[in-house]
Amino acid sequence: MQSKNWIGGEWITPSGKEVTVKNPSRLTEEIGVLHLSDRSHVLEAQQAARSAQKSWAAQTGAIRGEILFQMASALEKHADDLASLASREMGKQIVEMRGEVMRGVNLLRYYAGEGMRANGNLIPAADTNVLQYSRRVPLGVVAVITPWNFPVAIPIWKIAPALICGNSVIWKPAENGSLTATRLAEIFAETKLPAGVLNLVIGKGREIGNVLTDEADIDAVSFTGSSETGKQIAVACAGRNIKYQTEMGGKNAAVILADADLDKTVPILLSGAFRSAGQKCTATSRIIVEKAIYQPLVERLQTAMASCRVGEASDPAAYLGPVASAAQYETVNKYVSLASEQARLVAESPAVDAADQGYFIRPMIVEGVSADHALVQEEVFGPLAVMLAADNFDQAIELCNQTVYGLSASLFTRDLASAHRFLDLAQAGMVRVNQETAGVEYQAPFGGMKLSSSHTREQGQVALDFYSEIKTCAIKYAW
Ligand code: NAD
Repeated sequence: MQSKNWIGGEWITPSGKEVTVKNPSRLTEEIGVLHLSDRSHVLEAQQAARSAQKSWAAQTGAIRGEILFQMASALEKHADDLASLASREMGKQIVEMRGEVMRGVNLLRYYAGEGMRANGNLIPAADTNVLQYSRRVPLGVVAVITPWNFPVAIPIWKIAPALICGNSVIWKPAENGSLTATRLAEIFAETKLPAGVLNLVIGKGREIGNVLTDEADIDAVSFTGSSETGKQIAVACAGRNIKYQTEMGGKNAAVILADADLDKTVPILLSGAFRSAGQKCTATSRIIVEKAIYQPLVERLQTAMASCRVGEASDPAAYLGPVASAAQYETVNKYVSLASEQARLVAESPAVDAADQGYFIRPMIVEGVSADHALVQEEVFGPLAVMLAADNFDQAIELCNQTVYGLSASLFTRDLASAHRFLDLAQAGMVRVNQETAGVEYQAPFGGMKLSSSHTREQGQVALDFYSEIKTCAIKYAW
């Protein structure tokens, strides 16, 4: 497969640099070629988005919603093909990848319905015969910049609310998800989405991403990715006074109290830490345990890890696939080496068959490092979790909050008072009890505190607040 840009309804293959894409599960298999864009393609996309936006905004919400329903149906029709391509491109295990595509279908339907919901408030006026109300209006052209780890769901949870609010979109996906992005745009091209309302530009972040954020005539940026890139984008957008949201990294903790049901807790911990090879912003990467049950939990984790098998992403029986790329393999292995030098192994999964065939990393849980160690403080974004012991609930909360990040946090307990205290005290945008740190539902607000976010939220109805502005309208209809 070849990547393509989709600009103003036309398919364009840039003639510049090319990158061969290999399957991270099987490095001998080439699955396609990326054709990288340059500045001129970004500016063409910006012009196309700008000229399409007014007439798109002038459509009724019902019509925009109908087109989003068409996008959902087209995606559902091609769900298996798209999941298979994405799984071969970035290594997510196929069953999980199908689940991700279906989340995309559901998100499109959810936001399609918003086209027919109230989009303002009636506000009393102090004067007589005055009708005063607020209504949402679109921002204009929105740049959507996405990471590779959810190559279908994250773009859709930005594009769908942006479109239903009446914006046009320029989408720049991560390089590692660009074949999937091309196919997704082809699927959307089967619908009646007007030309130029959604534009796709394939290329490298540092070569074209910054043309979008620093130079192109846009009205907002919605970014998900690393905290380092997010901070640069925030500075660029603040300098231009355009609206931005940056959803970034995490170092999510699961806290296990002495009264937790350990048999039920262990599978949830493993899923949170190792599904998607730990490459979720909401992955569980710190396991904070009350001392009284530390050893029994270790024993259960050791037993459970035996069934946490790494395999090719196309294998539905594999618990996890490879990490996504050579760069990810190198970064995560640096932390694995650090762990083998400075920490003690608690549990690991069985050795990987044909380990050198792809970017496979064996999941592991380690212990024996202090709370300020790099393994406890830095986002690994791979299948490596660290255990810490806490004397009691208060110390567990202190450890949980001792990080620059604040995306997601979970508590495992049978005690209702502890559950409520945790939901009050944990400094994270998503706080959960007896549930994974990952897996927040699409109809609920998603986002983080501290360095995990620029403090807006995505998904659910709250996403509409980012993709629109409020206009206050007042009319004196009789003197
Ligand atoms: P990244 O920051 O390297 O890249 C993200 C996107 O930004 C890519 O499309 C990239 O090409 C683009 N980009 C890079 N440099 C740019 C620049 N100077 N200007 C404009 N765009 C630029 O992140 P990644 O490696 O793709 O993703 C992994 C990170 O994403 C992890 O830190 C993870 O926690 C985070 N993440 C966060 C969430 C969330 O909702 N909070 C969700 C998923 C992933």
